[in-house]
Amino acid sequence: MVKTPDRRKASKAGSTGTTMDALVSLAKRRGFVYPGSDIYGGLANAWDYGPLGAELKNNIKRLWWERFVHRHDDIVGLDAAIIMNPKVWAASGHLSGFADQLVDCRNCKERFRADHVGADHIGTDAACPNCGKKGAFTKPRKFNLMFKTFIGPAEDEAHVAYLRPETAQGMFVDYKQVLDSTRVKLPFGMAQIGKAFRNEITPGNFIFRTREFEQMEIEYFFAPPASDAAWQEIFEQWRAEILAWIKQVGIDPARVHEVEVGDGERAHYSKRTVDFEFDFPFGQEELYGLAYRTNFDLSAHGKASNEQLTYTDPETKQSFVPHCIEPSMGLDRTLLALLVSAYRQDGERVYLALPPAVAPYKAAVFPLLRNKPELIKKARAVYEALRKDFYVMWDDRGNIGKRYYAQDEIGTPVGLTVDFDTLKDDTVTWRDRDTAGQERVKVSELAARLSKLISGASD
Ligand code: ATP
Repeated sequence: MVKTPDRRKASKAGSTGTTMDALVSLAKRRGFVYPGSDIYGGLANAWDYGPLGAELKNNIKRLWWERFVHRHDDIVGLDAAIIMNPKVWAASGHLSGFADQLVDCRNCKERFRADHVGADHIGTDAACPNCGKKGAFTKPRKFNLMFKTFIGPAEDEAHVAYLRPETAQGMFVDYKQVLDSTRVKLPFGMAQIGKAFRNEITPGNFIFRTREFEQMEIEYFFAPPASDAAWQEIFEQWRAEILAWIKQVGIDPARVHEVEVGDGERAHYSKRTVDFEFDFPFGQEELYGLAYRTNFDLSAHGKASNEQLTYTDPETKQSFVPHCIEPSMGLDRTLLALLVSAYRQDGERVYLALPPAVAPYKAAVFPLLRNKPELIKKARAVYEALRKDFYVMWDDRGNIGKRYYAQDEIGTPVGLTVDFDTLKDDTVTWRDRDTAGQERVKVSELAARLSKLISGASD
C-alpha cells in the first residue's frame, strides 16, 4: 500500500499492566522470542521465535485459518510466492509509491521517519527526539521500503526482483486462476498467511515493527455496489469479524480502539479505512487495518497484464471488475498484543492467561517425586496417553511448587500431578493456571476435559 502519515498517540506507558522490559525478558528466558543472530552480536531489530514462540505463532495461524477459511464457505486459502514478477509492483503502485519520507538530524546523525518526528514539511523546527536539537532536520527524502534482490547470477536492472511488502497482491494476481479452478461465486474471499518484508526506516519496540514479519490477510470480493449502503454493510460485517477474532485469540478488547482514518490520511485507493489500535506498553499503535480498496487493484492488474480480471454474473451475464474489502492483520503484532493481554502478576507468581487454544502446551504432567519408580511409571503412562492428542509437557525437575510456577510463566493451562493416591484410585491433581485451584480428576476423564477446555466449552 502507499504509505500515509502515521498518527502518533500520546504514550500510555504502564497502562497495560506490564512493561516491555518484563515481557522481553520473559520471552527470551522462556524461549518465546530470542534476539536474532545473537552469537554474532545480533542484527538490529531481527528476532527469532524460539520453541514456545513457534508453537504460539502456529496456534494463532491455525485458529485464524480455521475461523476465516474452514468455517467460511465463501473464503478459500492461498499460498502465493514471496518473489513475484516485478511488473506486479509497478501495477500495484508499490514501485512508485510505497515509500516513507525520511529525515536526518544534522546534529546527532540519527535518521527518522519524517511523520514520526513532526518534520513532514520543509522548514519545520521540530526537535530531534534523540539529541533535542531544534531545526536540525534535513529536507525529507523519499525512501522506497521494498527489499530489492536479483534473480539469477546477473546483478543488473534487468534482473531486479523484490521481496513482497504485503501478501495482498498475490491474491489479486491469482484472482483469475482461483475463479477458473474453484467453484467460488461472488461474494467470495481469498485468505493468505505469509511473510512480508519492508525496509523500515525506524523498526523497533521488539516485534512490533520489524523488517521481516508475517501477515494474515483477506481480500473479500463483491459486485460493484449499487449504493454506499451496500459496501458499508459488508464493511460493518468485517469490522464485527475482526472484533470477534480479537476476542477469540485472547487479545483484551478493552485495549483495542477503532480509529476512522481521515480523508487526507488514507491510501489513495481506499474509500474507507478503520485502524484497530492497541494499548501497547509503549503507547496506542496500529494492530490491524480494514480497508475498502474499491476495484483499484483488479483494475490496475487487469490493465497492466491485459488479462480480463472480471466476473460474469451467472444470471444477468453482465461482466464487471469486482470490488474488495481487505482485513489485514499482522501476526507478530497479534502475538505481542496477546502476550501483553495475557501477562499477569499475582504477588511473586507471574502467569500468562493465554486461551488454552493458543497456549503452547495444553498441560504439563508431573510425578510428585522423581525418585519413586512406581510414580514415574504411572506418570509416564498418563503423559504418553495424553501426548497422542495434545501437546503436553513432561517435567520432573525440582519441587512441585517450582514446576507449577514454571508452567504458569509459559501459560500452560493445566498442571497434572501423579501422586501416591493416583496409584490407589487412578485420579490425579488437576491444577488450574489462573486460579491455582486444585481438584482430583480421574485419569480416564483427562482427555475429554482437556478437549473441552481447549474448545472453550464450559464444563
Ligand atoms: P504502520 O503504520 O504501523 O507502518 P501500515 O499501516 O503500514 O503499518 P499495513 O500496510 O496496513 O500497515 O499492514 C497491515 C498489517 O501488517 C498492520 O496492521 C500490522 O499488523 C502489520 N505490519 C505492517 N508493518 C509491519 C512491520 N514493519 N512489522 C510488523 N508488522 C507489521
